[in-house]
Amino acid sequence: MKLIKQIIPVSSTVRPGKIYPKYYICIHETDNTSKGANAKAHADLLMRKARENDGYYVSYHFAVDDRCVYQMIPEKENAYHAGDGKGPGNLNSIGIEICVNKDGDFEKALLNTAELVADLYKKFSLWRGDMRQHYDFSSYKKNCPKTIRNSGRWEEFLDMCDRAYDKKYGAGKKKEEEELKALEKCGKLEKKLNDLTNKLNKLSTENDHIRQKLINKQDKIITRENPFEWEKEAVDYCVSQGIIKGDGEKIDLSEPVNMGKMTVVIYRVIMHIKKWFVKKEDFLKYNTK
Ligand SMILES: [Zn+2]
Repeated sequence: MKLIKQIIPVSSTVRPGKIYPKYYICIHETDNTSKGANAKAHADLLMRKARENDGYYVSYHFAVDDRCVYQMIPEKENAYHAGDGKGPGNLNSIGIEICVNKDGDFEKALLNTAELVADLYKKFSLWRGDMRQHYDFSSYKKNCPKTIRNSGRWEEFLDMCDRAYDKKYGAGKKKEEEELKALEKCGKLEKKLNDLTNKLNKLSTENDHIRQKLINKQDKIITRENPFEWEKEAVDYCVSQGIIKGDGEKIDLSEPVNMGKMTVVIYRVIMHIKKWFVKKEDFLKYNTK
C-alpha cells in the first residue's frame, strides 16, 4: 500500500487544525462512481477547497482507492466528515473515504483500507471495537459507507482489518496491546470514579453547612431567646414589672401582637403608672380632678 501525503493548508472550514485525542476510526465511501473519482481526485478536491476557503465544510483525513492512500489532514487534527458538529465523530475519529469510482477495483480498495486501518490501530492503540461507520455518528443517519452497508459486509470488512493487523504486527502483540488498553481504560474509569466521589463528598458537606445555617436561622425566628441589644433595657423593665409575661413558659419576642394582647399590655401599663402615682400619694388627688 502506497501512502502519499498531500497535506492541505489550514483553513477554517476544511482543515480547522485543532488537535483532539483519537478514539475511533470512521469509515466512509465517496459515493462518487464517476470515472477518475479516485483517491488523488478526492485529495485534489480538498486542496482546491482549502485554497478557495469559501465555506466548504467537508474534509477527511484519508482517501483510499485500489492503488494508493492519500493523506490530506494529520490524524490528530479534527475534520468535518462525520456530520455530528462538535461531536466525537468530527473531533475524536479519523475519517477514511473509500473510493467507489467505476474505473477502480473496489475489492482492492477495501484491502488497501484494511491495511491503513491496521497501521492506525497500531499507531493510536485502537482495535476493532473502535471502528465506526459514518452512519453511527451522522445526526441524520446517513447511509454511509453505502456499498458495505447495503451488502451487509461490515463485519467482513472488520475481519479484513484484523487480518491485515495480524499479518503486519502479529496476533499475539495485538492481544497484549488490547489487554494493556483495557487496563488503561480501567485506570481512567477508576480515576473518574474517585473524582466523582470527591465531588459528591464536597456537595454533601456543603449541604450540611446550608442545613445548619437554616436550622440556626429558624431557631432565631421561633424562639428569639435573647433580646436584641437595642430592646434589652425595655424588655428587662417590662418583664420585671409584669407588663409582658409571655405564655407562662417563655416569652417569645417575635410573636405577633393582636388586639387582645395589645389591650392587656396597655391595661398593665396604666395599672403600673397608677401604682406609681399611688406610691407618690398623688394619684387620688390627680384622679378626682
Ligand atoms: Zn460518509
